[in-house]
Amino acid sequence: VISIAHMKKSYGTFDVLRDINLDVHRGEVISVIGPSGTGKSTFLRCLNLLEQPTGGSILIGGNDILERNADVPLLRRRMGMVFQSFNLFNGMSVLDNICLAPMQLLGKTREEAEKRAQQLLEMVGLAERATAMPEQLSGGQKQRVAIARALAMEPEILLFDEPTSALDPTMVSEVLGVMTKLAREGMTMIVVTHEMRFARQVSSRVLFFADGVIYEDGTPDQLFDHPQRERTRQFIQQIH
Ligand code: ATP
Ligand code: MG
Repeated sequence: VISIAHMKKSYGTFDVLRDINLDVHRGEVISVIGPSGTGKSTFLRCLNLLEQPTGGSILIGGNDILERNADVPLLRRRMGMVFQSFNLFNGMSVLDNICLAPMQLLGKTREEAEKRAQQLLEMVGLAERATAMPEQLSGGQKQRVAIARALAMEPEILLFDEPTSALDPTMVSEVLGVMTKLAREGMTMIVVTHEMRFARQVSSRVLFFADGVIYEDGTPDQLFDHPQRERTRQFIQQIH
């Protein structure tokens, strides 16, 4: 789906991402782990061009989206993003949150958009809350709406940046449950997470970020049970 080569990102003289190389295949569920400040969020933000990478290439469907004439709105449509802080539109009902972008950007009629939104709300277990306002929802419910909203754009890949970090422990599992379901249905996903159980049990591949590079890349078994490099080993030990 995506091929990233030599991607770099600097803030002034500070190199956050030094040389990122990664091929993401259809249906892969990739967990990204690593110490704080190693560029995991920056990596996701560069992928969907919320930040402009300072170098390298990102090929999607053979087109380099870092080229000057790339179709950035099209690219954004193909990648959904779910944030730690939900980022719902607070002045709008749950249903309108989900329908807005498909109507504005995919040219769907309200009827079409609402039909799909209802299906998605069903999928995330919130069929009854379509008319609620975001402030009436718990954190876990807000995050499930945010996932439904991202899916409404029919993305080819979903990016998650610590989707459960802002949630009370009791609500974490309902969000991880939805993500697990999506993974089983074959959705391509990249998930920055501290949820090692999810990383181990649901993802097909785990990336350990350190020093602005993908320091180690492997299956969950390889990364967690047989890490090849010292920094990875230390990190895995620490979190257990
Ligand atoms: P965490 O696990 O704490 O979320 P992270 O791996 O997601 O960390 P990033 O948020 O990507 O790390 O940040 C990587 C580094 O880049 C940090 O040192 C951060 O201070 C720096 N950084 C991030 N955004 C900016 C910015 N807009 N301007 C300057 N420096 C930034
Ligand atoms: Mg982060």
